[in-house]
Amino acid sequence: MYQYRRRFTREVVFGTIALGGYQPIRVESMTNTHTMDTVATVEQCRRLYAAGCEIIRLTVPTEKDAENLGNIRKQLRRDGIDTPLVADIHFSARAALKAVEFVENIRINPGNYASTPKFSTNEYTEEEYLNEIEHVRQEFAPLVEKARQYGVSMRIGTNHGSLSDRIVSRYGNSPEGMVEAALEFARFCEEAGYYDILFSMKSSNVRVMIQAYRLLVQEADAELRYAYPLHLGVTEAGDGDEGRIKSAMGIGALLEDGLGDTIRVSLTEDPVNEVPVGFAIVKKYNEFHLVNGDRGHIPLKHVIESRHKQANHTLSTHELPPFSPFSYQRRASSQIALAGMAIGGDNVPRVETEVHASLSARDVVFEETLQRLAPKKPQDAIRSEFVSVRVNSAADLDALDELLGRLGEERRLVVASTSDLSLFGRLLDKVSKVRFDIIEGERFENELLQLVNNERLAAVELCFLHEKSGYSVPARVLVHLAEKLYRRNVHRLLFSVQSDHVVFVYRRLVQAFKSSSLNYPLLVRFKGDASDRLETLIKSSVQTGTLFCDGIGDMLSLNTTLSFDDEVDLAFNILQGARIRMSKTEFISCPGCGRTYFELEKAVAAIKQRTAHLKGLKIGIMGCIVNGPGEMADADFGYVGAGKNRISLYVGRQCVEENIPEQEAVERLISLIREQGKWVDPV
Ligand code: SF4
Repeated sequence: MYQYRRRFTREVVFGTIALGGYQPIRVESMTNTHTMDTVATVEQCRRLYAAGCEIIRLTVPTEKDAENLGNIRKQLRRDGIDTPLVADIHFSARAALKAVEFVENIRINPGNYASTPKFSTNEYTEEEYLNEIEHVRQEFAPLVEKARQYGVSMRIGTNHGSLSDRIVSRYGNSPEGMVEAALEFARFCEEAGYYDILFSMKSSNVRVMIQAYRLLVQEADAELRYAYPLHLGVTEAGDGDEGRIKSAMGIGALLEDGLGDTIRVSLTEDPVNEVPVGFAIVKKYNEFHLVNGDRGHIPLKHVIESRHKQANHTLSTHELPPFSPFSYQRRASSQIALAGMAIGGDNVPRVETEVHASLSARDVVFEETLQRLAPKKPQDAIRSEFVSVRVNSAADLDALDELLGRLGEERRLVVASTSDLSLFGRLLDKVSKVRFDIIEGERFENELLQLVNNERLAAVELCFLHEKSGYSVPARVLVHLAEKLYRRNVHRLLFSVQSDHVVFVYRRLVQAFKSSSLNYPLLVRFKGDASDRLETLIKSSVQTGTLFCDGIGDMLSLNTTLSFDDEVDLAFNILQGARIRMSKTEFISCPGCGRTYFELEKAVAAIKQRTAHLKGLKIGIMGCIVNGPGEMADADFGYVGAGKNRISLYVGRQCVEENIPEQEAVERLISLIREQGKWVDPV
């Protein structure tokens, strides 16, 4: 939890490639064509191959689709495309048994493979429960045997929204239930002496997804014979920036933990778009791998020795994470007021951005500040709540006075930053917050402590500029200052570290604060200079999103190369992805696959256009009725494909309108939202 170390897993073969062990983290995608449509599917596989996709998954709803995998495979191999293929199976054991003949890996869903649905969650006697496990074991055994015979590996792919009735009856719809569902199938595999397996634990809720994977690793590594690889993904992440941000947050948080051997970014878009996003997410970790050397195939003996070492390592108090890795609990912090807004405590995290223009360019800085604060927008619209200006000289102080005068009412939302102590002292009576930047190695302590007290207008943010020092240096410096100020009863304080790699430094800071019983609010500050937009989205989402998903952070500030609007949207998307601040409608949409029989991407665009202003509402837009209703988990309303150009509408988990024509469905959804009293007119 405090520095990057990749979990060492058993290497599992996927045809011409392998994953796990010291192999690079692989990038997978999935076709959304009908698998019976050979021409369209081969063409999409060809495009995925050209985009660099390393593993291609195809949906296999029936035995006939499984048969057709043979034709698809033949054409791809004939054209020199040797990308490993994965058959995605839900429900049908017959389809699975046939598909094994044509693929390198088979994915089964423990929630629906050979389970008998009971449509009830609390009516299993112990005997019924055990009988059902035995039934599943017997149904599953032939697949394991055939996979072994054909040299095919298997992913035990659990989804939060599709656990079996039996598992839900005992564990609820929880990470614990997801883990147990996966472990049951892994036990069957190990009992049969079949070890070519990997796991996934997906959910559309990023926090649940992170917790489920961590819990699986803890439980599986304690019980199973090998540390099996992990396939990471956030399901139903949606499209556009939101889909990319959510995926980066969930996958990236786990990669930072050292977990994950292959990933899939699920977007409700052309699957080819998923590939560059996937590579952008794994880049940093694979570069780390290259730096540390490609040691090739790892013998099993080595795997077992490494497992024993990991299992016997007991964590010291200082190594324990300063938050629960398996359940969400926000870090308790004290509350302070900034310009009439409450920060810390149970309040939603606030967003601050920084003006790029220099104060000496007076008109430019005025315009930029206005744009960032967007004063013409309604109060609860997405906008930067605080805007920070940089003060480097006495002339800047004059320019700041002029800026504040020109801004009128909005001046209270302007905050300032400096690394000069004399300027810092003069700023404390001008704005509502002043950030003092601590540069490593510079002397500042005595003078700073004399200036900070409760009598000044401004709250003080002490920010460590982290560049080259170790991850624990910012924590040592800030805790030392915090303890001194706490003893003097100074309470209008915030702490932060500015870095492009905030996960480990903030975890250490939280740990150190906890040890010293300090609960000052924390502002999570990410500064990145990547010129590439996607790279910026991904880095900032991974770094700051990981912290908010673990309950760390009372404010968020991004300083990137993005435009003002983009940067503010990104900050709010990160907070929404972590489900800590809902500022707009939450869309949960699947990527679509061979089970989709309507225009999913068009529907998503149309629904978003009409409903994006319904703050806090969750709308699921799912490709099929087979998996959709379960997978959209906690959506308030659902728009689900029910057959060729037919849609069913849901309120919560209940289907309220069945099989309505696709052309009428969006209008009907809007009416339904109105009827349920959840509609508000856009401003
Ligand atoms: S919910 Fe979407 S991705 Fe999942 S099986 Fe149905 S159509 Fe395919």
